[in-house]
Amino acid sequence: MSKLVITDLHVTVDTEDGPKEILKGVTLTIDDNETHAIMGPNGSGKSTLAYSIAGHPKYTVTGGSVTLDGQDVLAMSVDERARAGLFLAMQYPVEVPGVSVANFLRTAKTAIDGEAPKLRTWVKDVNGALERLNLDSTFSQRSVNEGFSGGEKKRHEIAQLELLDPKVAILDETDSGLDIDALKIVSEGVNRFRQQEGKGVLLITHYTRILRYIEPDHVHVFVDGKVAESGGRELAEQLEAEGYDRFLKANA
Ligand code: ADP
Ligand code: MG
Ligand code: MG
Repeated sequence: MSKLVITDLHVTVDTEDGPKEILKGVTLTIDDNETHAIMGPNGSGKSTLAYSIAGHPKYTVTGGSVTLDGQDVLAMSVDERARAGLFLAMQYPVEVPGVSVANFLRTAKTAIDGEAPKLRTWVKDVNGALERLNLDSTFSQRSVNEGFSGGEKKRHEIAQLELLDPKVAILDETDSGLDIDALKIVSEGVNRFRQQEGKGVLLITHYTRILRYIEPDHVHVFVDGKVAESGGRELAEQLEAEGYDRFLKANA
């Protein structure tokens, strides 16, 4: 099971001028085996939603709830959220100088499973995941994100997704900065993940392009800190044709 339920979520971010409300009552349910796309203009709060679910300290939840399979996510530490099965791939991944991809992945896997993965199968799993993402085996010896191209960062994120095997994956702007070949490889990785039993995906994006490769079951338009409209794939097509103007005007 992998049901993520977000109910009337309110979040403020700490700014120099004090706390500012960014999320203004987000309600969204990602049920078992569902892929949801959140689309919205820049600055509408999409990344804030992702960070808040992941437990980033800069964001303060002032109201509402988030549960994963009935468990209170907001009561969990960042580590506990990952162990509970939440995975977050970020728009701006951090560099971890001096830590190799191989060690990073092994440490993350150990933290999530509570025990170190068996070495023999693990090396095979890592090499397999890298290969499927068109990353050669020397990639695992590089420092995490140090000098990675945009495409390498995203492919590394999807390798993490595959190896850590969460219940629900939150992918923030996974398509940004990708050329068409990398976009296809990354999308195939996400599709491999979601085709497994009981997985959920929350795909956050500004553009409709990736939705041609990862077909969402539900599409939500996000404006000014909340869901302005929900629909099926046709909503993404409509956004592609018309842009966000209609929603921004309705909100003005
Ligand atoms: P999106 O991902 O949809 O582009 P964000 O969640 O990044 O939107 O940002 C939403 C709003 O919150 C923006 O106005 C942004 O400036 C503000 N914001 C987000 N994070 C911070 C932060 N750490 N400090 C100050 N303002 C922030
Ligand atoms: Mg963002
Ligand atoms: Mg907002």
